[in-house]
Amino acid sequence: MRGAQGGPAPGISPSRRLLARLRDVMAGSGTIQSRLDKIVKLIAAEMVAEVCSCYVMRPGDVLELFATIGLNPEAVHRTRLRVGEGLVGEIALTARPLAIANAPSHPNFAYRPETGEDPYQSLVGVPILRGGKVRGVLVIQNAKRRNYSEEEVETLQTIAMVVAELVAGRDTGEQGQIATGSTGGILPTRLGGLTINPGLAQGLAVLHQSQLTIRQMVADDPNEELARFNAAVDTMHASLDQLLETTAASGVEEGRDILETYLMFARDRGWLGRIHEAINAGLTAEAAVQRVQNDMRARMAHLTDPYIRERLYDFDDLTNRLLLHLSGKVSAADSGTLPDDVVLVARSIGPAELLDYDRRRLRALILEDGSATSHVAIVARALDIPVVGRVSEAMSLIEPLDPVIVDGDHGQVFVRPAEDIQELFQQNVELRARRRQEYAELARLPPESRDGVRISLNINAGLLVDIPHLESTGADGVGLFRTEIPFMVRTNFPDVASQTEFYAKVLDHAGERPVHFRTLDVGGDKKLPYLDAQDQENPALGWRAIRIGLDRPAMLRAQLRALIRAAAGRELRVMFPMVASVAEFDAARRLLDMELERARRDGFPLPRDLRVGVMLEVPALLWQLPQLLPRIDFLSVGSNDLAQYLFAADRGNPKVARRYDPLSPPMLNMLRTLVRDCDAAGVPVSLCGEMASRPLEAMALVGVGFRSLSMTPGAFGAVKTMIRRLEVGPLARYVDTLCGSAEASVRERLKFYAMDHGVPV
Ligand code: PEP
Ligand code: MG
Repeated sequence: MRGAQGGPAPGISPSRRLLARLRDVMAGSGTIQSRLDKIVKLIAAEMVAEVCSCYVMRPGDVLELFATIGLNPEAVHRTRLRVGEGLVGEIALTARPLAIANAPSHPNFAYRPETGEDPYQSLVGVPILRGGKVRGVLVIQNAKRRNYSEEEVETLQTIAMVVAELVAGRDTGEQGQIATGSTGGILPTRLGGLTINPGLAQGLAVLHQSQLTIRQMVADDPNEELARFNAAVDTMHASLDQLLETTAASGVEEGRDILETYLMFARDRGWLGRIHEAINAGLTAEAAVQRVQNDMRARMAHLTDPYIRERLYDFDDLTNRLLLHLSGKVSAADSGTLPDDVVLVARSIGPAELLDYDRRRLRALILEDGSATSHVAIVARALDIPVVGRVSEAMSLIEPLDPVIVDGDHGQVFVRPAEDIQELFQQNVELRARRRQEYAELARLPPESRDGVRISLNINAGLLVDIPHLESTGADGVGLFRTEIPFMVRTNFPDVASQTEFYAKVLDHAGERPVHFRTLDVGGDKKLPYLDAQDQENPALGWRAIRIGLDRPAMLRAQLRALIRAAAGRELRVMFPMVASVAEFDAARRLLDMELERARRDGFPLPRDLRVGVMLEVPALLWQLPQLLPRIDFLSVGSNDLAQYLFAADRGNPKVARRYDPLSPPMLNMLRTLVRDCDAAGVPVSLCGEMASRPLEAMALVGVGFRSLSMTPGAFGAVKTMIRRLEVGPLARYVDTLCGSAEASVRERLKFYAMDHGVPV
């Protein structure tokens, strides 16, 4: 389609001709400024307009006139409009094109005398979009009053897509010249989020199911592009059909419904039609797919309706699939081109998907969604990588291969970090390495306080990779083994044989150290794809954990059978989660007894020693201790859930996450009474919620009487160091006084106590 001199052939559409010329400017040398200057000139000439201007988004959501032909050159870099101010600001605010024949009479018109724009009557402007964000505004103006055609608006939109590449300017060598501030871009940026797993790491961003970087925006031959696009759509449809078939064959109704909706979108004529139009206008197939997605994201970004947002995610996923099919590439996890240090960025990701990535390269995880108690967080903890969640729009603000520092301790992320941050990071990494060395030496020393009180320290686990931590930390055992994690990384329910094999391996690896297996704790946020738990209005208060186990006894019995077989003559410790009444414990215990009886009958060796306990997570159980304690061999406090039910505050909801402090009189009082009751009944009590993983909280727990804690392995060194510097007697007396306080939190008081007594927390 190119003419004899390399220019476009005569007779082709204006948009394509203009794009071909633009491509030459884009590919040419020069600063961003000089290229933008050429581009506005070119657009004005081709679109027969007296004025063409390019506004670029600056930090603080300000649009700066960056290049113009037709307006007063003096106004360049001087004229600035807030988002929402004037017609240009309106286009940026709504992220929609605007075409007006009589601009000065428009209610939003803002007259800027320095631009000399008074003679111009008509205006058409479009947002410059990239990654679903507004990066600037492209405008043309005419002196004579005129109505712009739809085709002209479309052409300008297509051009804006190409200009967006220049404005985002990643390969221009002028990084820092154009800042896009809060709307993302090329300057160092700090993004705030929620600590999901502490730690500090650095690497290059890999976007999970990332949109591929599009190298060529303007097509050489649109017919060829159309053919490529149609072929990619066919392969995508075929692969989705196949996925649907296999899902249907496995009898997973929910999965089938989702896929069917998905397929409906994939065949959406409007969507495919818009992509065709963009290709006809001169974009490559990839750029056209991206262009249509940009429009959709910009239009829907401000909508908060969760249903619509989910649909937007569906289209995002389809876009990614299409781009993958177009490139003939495989997904990020299997790409074989992962950098050595991967900082994975995802909207949300399942535990199985996370494990698809090469663990040796994974350094950190950034999530747009996510909560500390989600299972991917627990898996990430097992992999010992920092995780920051609730980083809004991380997927659009971080670009593939951006250098990123993840500060899990403070729930923050530095994208394209400046030198001083990098230096600070380096110092911190060295400090941590020294500390790790100290902790490793500490593994041989007993977790004993200065006044000789021995505290049993244990680790929480859920995967086989956790078990070696027993050795490296010197822990007494596994205080909580979350059995649901291996269930969650599968696509179907594991049978008794595979469960048995897995639990046996855990026991083999743990050797003489005891492992407290918790039976399946699914439901709520912990979804199994193959368990139909329906959407529940209030999942945390809904059908979960032991409630499912008792309603579906075959499932719980299969697990208990596997645990008994795995123990085969060894010690077995089992605990039931979310028990709310003694009757529930009795019912669960009966199932266990039935399985013991069955094992005996079938000739399997019985466990040498069987200990059965409960997790204390539901407050109701606190008032049944006289009946419960004689029935159990041990009790483990799940402080994550217990605190959530005690304060009636969703543990995963950041709006209330910091409102109630577990270091407060009601929680400490309650725990103190519980420990005293357990001690009096001679029932060992431990705590395995996240509280035990934080040195200050762990200190308070020892203060109220706990002599056994179970924590995430990464916290072990810090907690043990704290204990070895502690005097338990005076601490307990001090904590007694705090239990009587009327304050909402005694955190600061405990901090001062630790400081005054030289206890590192
Ligand atoms: C808890 O609730 O404190 C607990 C340890 O269980 P999970 O976090 O797995 O719900
Ligand atoms: Mg729990």
